[in-house]
Amino acid sequence: MHRATEQVLVNLALYDGVADHLQADQGIWIGVDGMIRAVGPVDDVLAEAGDVPVVDLGGDVVMPGLTNMHVHLSLGLPGHLADEVHRSNLAELVLLMADSARRTLHAGVTTARLVGEGRYADFALRKGIEAGAVDGPRIFTAGHALCCTGGHGWEADALEADGADGFRQLTRAQIRAGADLIKVCISGGIAGQYEAIDTPQLLDDEMAAVIRVAHDWGRKVTAHAGPADTVRRAVELGLDCVEHGYELTDEVTRLMAERGVWYVPTIVVSRCEQFFRDSGVPGWLMERALGAGPRHWESLQHAIRNGVPIALGSDMPPHAGYDETTATVRELEFMVDAGMPVADALKAATIRPAEWLNADDKLGSITAGKHADLLVLRDDPTRSVSALRTLHVVMKGGVVYRDDHGRTRARR
Ligand SMILES: [Zn+2]
Repeated sequence: MHRATEQVLVNLALYDGVADHLQADQGIWIGVDGMIRAVGPVDDVLAEAGDVPVVDLGGDVVMPGLTNMHVHLSLGLPGHLADEVHRSNLAELVLLMADSARRTLHAGVTTARLVGEGRYADFALRKGIEAGAVDGPRIFTAGHALCCTGGHGWEADALEADGADGFRQLTRAQIRAGADLIKVCISGGIAGQYEAIDTPQLLDDEMAAVIRVAHDWGRKVTAHAGPADTVRRAVELGLDCVEHGYELTDEVTRLMAERGVWYVPTIVVSRCEQFFRDSGVPGWLMERALGAGPRHWESLQHAIRNGVPIALGSDMPPHAGYDETTATVRELEFMVDAGMPVADALKAATIRPAEWLNADDKLGSITAGKHADLLVLRDDPTRSVSALRTLHVVMKGGVVYRDDHGRTRARR
């Protein structure tokens, strides 16, 4: 159990998630409740805080904690991962997910949107993290993903239904369990043996049923989706967010932008060959994933060009290694490589997801009144998102969970 201590962080440059540039000589006053009490020029903040312990960050950069919008803490891709997840009993599953949650937080991800977990273990984990019994990010979860019989994810804990009634029932069951959002698989994908990425899977009345019930209960719906035509149908029915979008077009991304539908590209999943090898996935899966790469990249470029709201999500475990960094940071680098300005990419990982989650009053930027969820980096992220490779401190709610150089103990 960790408790926040009241403190003022000084000797830092700030990327606050609001302004696009770095602000020098700032101070951040954090209260005993783990909330930010004041941010601003260091002398003003020190004068306001009075006799509060001061932590010197040695001139490093502070930025908001990252939000990863496509996480499976119980990822069960065909291969070793599925074996481990599916052979575990419920207690073992929770421990496995707790381990992934801790690593996720240590990777700088202070908020995670879970888009398909199993056996309602995610709700127990969310409770444990909120109570301070387990180290992990703030959790927003969809509970089980939903799919049609034999649809995408059925082997990986998605719940199957058919017909509008069946989907209404499953949607309500997730909300009953405590779901913050609903995840539905409307087309094929990479990890299902008997489907293709462009297999349409839900009929219009089924998609409409999920969206209607979720919206009536104040929840957003995000869809696992590949082909442009399936995405177009779902967007017209009121979908809120598209995952992967392996085969988006100029036309459908224009429609998404016009309707304010978000996109979480998870671009790493069609280029993470080493991760697939290490996970021992079958050959057909590897071939399909990497084969989707070029078209997936074009989808991301269409979305960037047409102004679709984009948020960071990795699908791979957020902490998984990728090119000597994490999948989360690599995803952000790829977004910039695909043409997204650095300033937009940083927001896609911080304040924008908080907006989608309706949590931007408390999360996503370093602003008075919000949770003190922040990272310390050696390099400047507004010059290059690769600065996240120099991350060495992770704080959530005013509590330090990672501090590689003991910097936050250097009080004065
Ligand atoms: Zn996924």
